[in-house]
Amino acid sequence: MTDSELLVVGVDVGGTNIEVGLVDAQHRVQARAKGATPVDGPEAVLTAIGELVAALGAEPLSVGVGIPGVVHDGQVLTVPNLSGWHDPFDLVGELTGRLGLPVTLGNDADVGLLGEWLAGSAVGARDVLGLWMGTGVGGSLILDGRPYHGVRGAAGEIGHVVVQAGGALCTCGRRGCAEAYAGRRSMQGVASAMVEAGWQTSLFEIQEQEHKPKLTSSVWARALEAGDELAGKLFDTAVESLGVAVGSAVNLLDLDTVIVGGGLAEKLGQPLADRIAGAAAPWMLQPSPDLQFTVSALGDDAGVVGAAVLSRAALLAG
Ligand SMILES: [Zn+2]
Repeated sequence: MTDSELLVVGVDVGGTNIEVGLVDAQHRVQARAKGATPVDGPEAVLTAIGELVAALGAEPLSVGVGIPGVVHDGQVLTVPNLSGWHDPFDLVGELTGRLGLPVTLGNDADVGLLGEWLAGSAVGARDVLGLWMGTGVGGSLILDGRPYHGVRGAAGEIGHVVVQAGGALCTCGRRGCAEAYAGRRSMQGVASAMVEAGWQTSLFEIQEQEHKPKLTSSVWARALEAGDELAGKLFDTAVESLGVAVGSAVNLLDLDTVIVGGGLAEKLGQPLADRIAGAAAPWMLQPSPDLQFTVSALGDDAGVVGAAVLSRAALLAG
């Protein structure tokens, strides 16, 4: 058996979609499957993962899963952006039982950054912040050349760094977090409220045209491209808020690399990373002259490739 036949499956559970890929030892995605993320709780999500893995029609050695929540010891403690997840859930135990394969679990932002670090934009970097713009704002860290998870796996939550004390209500229940201004779910809430207050925008028409259940990254990208005033205004606020959070993170950690990923980064590319760099600059005290802001190289595949890497590493560790 050659290296490239040592296939593992990476699963990226997002707030909107679940993406599954069959990944070889060179981190290449050989086959993929995708479906909408069920909104009725963990059992439905497990069923969807099982169906997508089966749809790959392969015999993988193991499965790695990235999920947008706090993960500790194979348990999902909380998943703020998925409906129906209330209590801690033994995802590794349940999914191993269903698939009959070894399963490894990580936070989606952590596995995404792992993918970028081993096979994408952050190869060779030592101190890295991964910033993922999606339904929420995910974050992850590599410090001193190794992934950093903190005491309980909750480190790197750049989305819940407070950028305005007493500010807008965040999905986490606190106020003034970066995610309250830059997470797509929060931005949609503000857009709806502003439309009710009489503002004009093409955002919701584009959503209808594209048959999307919510304002997705592609909807935002189209509205921004068309010069939609409200979309531009909300997006400016999002970028400025992320700039405050990232600038503070750089002051705290003296990073060499900031990776910007997620659905919006996929659509907008390096100009988005450049805009966040510009927004962070005024807040940075003494940044490294080598500090780079780079868009994710793996794009939509970062989560799948990273989850596969996590699973492969667990296999090697036995
Ligand atoms: Zn928050």
